[in-house]
Amino acid sequence: MLDVPNRYSRHVLLEVIGQEGQDKIRNASVLVAGLGALGSTISILLARAGVGFLRIVDKDSPELHNLHRQILYNEEDVYSGLSKAVAARSHLLSMASNIEVEAVNQEIEKNNVFNLLDGIDLVVDALDNSETRFIVNDAIMARSIPYIFGGAVETVGNVMTIIPGRTPCLRCIWPEPSSIVGHARAATVGVLSSVASLVASIQVTEIFKILVGDIGNTIPGILVMDVWKNQFHVVPVEPNPDCSCGKIEPR
Ligand SMILES: [Zn+2]
Repeated sequence: MLDVPNRYSRHVLLEVIGQEGQDKIRNASVLVAGLGALGSTISILLARAGVGFLRIVDKDSPELHNLHRQILYNEEDVYSGLSKAVAARSHLLSMASNIEVEAVNQEIEKNNVFNLLDGIDLVVDALDNSETRFIVNDAIMARSIPYIFGGAVETVGNVMTIIPGRTPCLRCIWPEPSSIVGHARAATVGVLSSVASLVASIQVTEIFKILVGDIGNTIPGILVMDVWKNQFHVVPVEPNPDCSCGKIEPR
């Protein structure tokens, strides 16, 4: 009933999407890894765009200091005691009851990451720590699933699209999580709400490109932005021949 043809008409009208692209978006299954600031905006846009299946994963519950940037939650959620995953699922289905949303109230770890990837076409990074990102990075390289890395801290944002077999992975650039220089967390240095929404919107744009099959237009490197200083540039990256991603056995 709520999947009537004109629901997505403003996307279907776009030359870069069209009905064929919208059908691909409808048939896609996306894993949203983390439901903080990035995960809020990402999952709202994906749900409203009609992505057919979202698996949303986070182990935390909403807190009052989340609300300035985590736009999926409201004050009631903070006091409800519900997990972010369960609260998020309810809100997403109120926006798009015609899609399927699976809420997973867990931390992503080595022992569950492959289960979480089952049936998934694409993973989007909305995580807040490098260790978990590297668990996801290694798993998506092993399963050959595209992964949209994103980060926002202070007034700076980064986005990198990782397509196994075509682009470098996180380890090609930073061999270990501890080698990511300057990856301070929002809890210690803060994050501007608008930069988080911007990073998430760019990540979703990359998702749309991949889902409709326009891989050639994805970001060719790491997009680095400082929205306060009006700086936007793409840093080229190359696959590292010594990276373990070239030697991963599929599982
Ligand atoms: Zn690599």
